[in-house]
Amino acid sequence: MTLLPTSTAGSLPKPSWLAEPETLWSPWKLQDDQLVSGKQDALRIALQEQQHAGIDIISDGEQTRQHFVTTFIEHLNGVDFDNRKTVKIRDRYDASVPVVINAVSRQKSVFVEDAKFLRQQTKQPIKWALPGPMTMVDTLYDDHYKSREKLAWEFAKILNEEAKELEAAGVDIIQFDEPAFNVFFDEVNDWGIACLERAIEGLKCETAVHICYGYGIKANTDWKESLGSEWRQYEEIFPKLQASNIDIISLECHNSRVPTELLELVRGKKVMVGAIDVATNHIETPEEVADTLRNVLKYVDADKLYPCTNCGMAPLSRKVASGKLAALNAGAEIIRKELGAA
Ligand SMILES: [Zn+2]
Repeated sequence: MTLLPTSTAGSLPKPSWLAEPETLWSPWKLQDDQLVSGKQDALRIALQEQQHAGIDIISDGEQTRQHFVTTFIEHLNGVDFDNRKTVKIRDRYDASVPVVINAVSRQKSVFVEDAKFLRQQTKQPIKWALPGPMTMVDTLYDDHYKSREKLAWEFAKILNEEAKELEAAGVDIIQFDEPAFNVFFDEVNDWGIACLERAIEGLKCETAVHICYGYGIKANTDWKESLGSEWRQYEEIFPKLQASNIDIISLECHNSRVPTELLELVRGKKVMVGAIDVATNHIETPEEVADTLRNVLKYVDADKLYPCTNCGMAPLSRKVASGKLAALNAGAEIIRKELGAA
């Protein structure tokens, strides 16, 4: 693979005929068979947009899911989606969530058919995102296990089954989204990373964990405002992540107040460096992207640096998102030239 391979953290905007644009978690506009083929068409467009922008590691743009956590949970036994409860997500905002009422299990694969479809469309490396066990626990009300840790272990086993099938379908990198890792540090160190390692047990493909400061929604930007001039959240969890079996760590870097030197704590890991801000409509210049990457290069070896977006781009307009994809690649190209690799 090329030096500094580019990718996205996950989601891309959906076409307006599939779901309401510039809206997070917006409901589908199609049903039944039309929805199935609509999702596949959207997936083809997401692939083409990434290829057109020169992205090296292709994702599905999350075109086949409504929500990065609940779409997975919908396919599990033991969870009641009809009688929802309101909980605070990541200690930040209220949400109406499904309730765990019985032992959780996976009847059949959730995303494997979608992943096979993407695999058929391209020979480029593909990355697939799943929710992480701790973030799943944090997006539910648990009326059965009554223990966040116990429930996370159950989810880790289920995620491992799904991940093994995704690997068999030809997925090159399986990513677990764990924004909750940025909030519950004690739990992360007690059992969060251990559960993640259970979720990747036995996998031969590469594995990643995405830990961000969230989509550019108000609850998140307000929270960021409260974090002060230096965001040192990563510092709490990096030592244990560095020692874990996870191959790649996906982080928010561009326009964030994360002190770059914290990356020294995960030296040796591959790092997907967020060099695109998903909380603004400003399209980064290639030079702005290059500045972020150049700065990170002091702490991440060039062969382990994967330019990426800070988080998903689902809430952005398609025009802004495709501009940002192009900027990401152009910025990476500047640094490749500087390193004599292009
Ligand atoms: Zn994210």
